[in-house]
Amino acid sequence: MEYYHIPSSVEETLSIADNYSGNYTYFAGGTDIQIYRKQKLDTHDHIIDLSRLDELKSITVNKDHLHLGAMTTLDDIISSDIINSNYPLISEAAKSVATPVIRKTATIGGNLLVNNRCIFYNQSKEWRDSIGSCLKDKGDICQVTGGNKSCYARNVSDTATALVALESEIIFLTPSGSIQKPLTELYLPCGIKSNELDEHSILTGITIPIKAEKWWYRKLRLRKTLDFTSLTVAATVDSDRIARICLNGVSMSPVLIKEALKSLTLESLIKQARKNCKTVENDLMPLKYRREMINVYLKECWETLH
Ligand SMILES: Cc1cc2nc3c(=O)[nH]c(=O)nc-3n(C[C@H](O)[C@H](O)[C@H](O)COP(=O)(O)OP(=O)(O)OC[C@H]3O[C@@H](n4cnc5c(N)ncnc54)[C@H](O)[C@@H]3O)c2cc1C
Ligand code: SF4
Repeated sequence: MEYYHIPSSVEETLSIADNYSGNYTYFAGGTDIQIYRKQKLDTHDHIIDLSRLDELKSITVNKDHLHLGAMTTLDDIISSDIINSNYPLISEAAKSVATPVIRKTATIGGNLLVNNRCIFYNQSKEWRDSIGSCLKDKGDICQVTGGNKSCYARNVSDTATALVALESEIIFLTPSGSIQKPLTELYLPCGIKSNELDEHSILTGITIPIKAEKWWYRKLRLRKTLDFTSLTVAATVDSDRIARICLNGVSMSPVLIKEALKSLTLESLIKQARKNCKTVENDLMPLKYRREMINVYLKECWETLH
């Protein structure tokens, strides 16, 4: 049985979520979660549609901070003059997500909370049943490593890569009030549960504190017009010459390397990336190629930032 709810305020949303605790799914643009429903990876009975939460659809600048409401669409971000003039890295990342039609409904909040992916998990139920389920699918073994402890499903959010490189913070509402914290703290080091946003919470917005003096962005994927990332790198340098380089699509959560630009050598950048990215053979592009491309992207990025 499936029940559909369309609240018109954040408070009403939390109250419905509380009523159906453990048995609901939020729909923002629905562009990711609908596939999970179809593939029976999400089987909750209650769907809470967030599309009428107009209070979460905004792009504002406040005391030098940019604020994005969680229900702002990627298309609105791409066509925003404020963002294109002052935060071009964000629109560049938004442009690299999916297709123009998808970006008309896909939201920034949904993109930050997109589930981690793996070629052994993001398949139809029949496909998964034929090989046996894995740790992320309530099974007891990882189909990639044969281990029984860790899941290496990849974080694939392209906008998260850019927003981490801009040191962004997220704001979410819980029944006991609003909480703000660094975006990096949203993500978990295990692919089974992609983020730590818990039951009864709703992501309401994102705050971006810094403007980059220099930035760089690149996404590797099979088909440029459609596919999820095989490797995304976003980098910024701020007015204090601090470099922030974020890699995504190659580990369970975005990997951030932050260092003064003058002391950052290419060798140490590659070494830190190699150490922190837990890259395994679970993408359409081969592991060896993706590892090589980390070096290629970091070299290009390092040269551009200097
Ligand atoms: C063909 C195709 C290609 C795609 N390519 C890419 C790609 O290149 N890069 C990429 O990053 N993504 C891609 N996607 C996935 C998806 O379209 C995007 O990630 C999109 O931004 C998700 O936003 P949404 O609003 O549709 O999220 P939804 O699908 O509505 O939600 C995604 C998740 O976030 C939760 N959620 C959403 N909003 C909130 C909130 N405010 N509070 C709490 N929980 C919330 C939902 O419950 C769900 O678990 C692709 C999808 C398709 C179908
Ligand atoms: S990395 Fe392993 S446990 Fe995780 S989704 Fe893939 S096969 Fe499943």
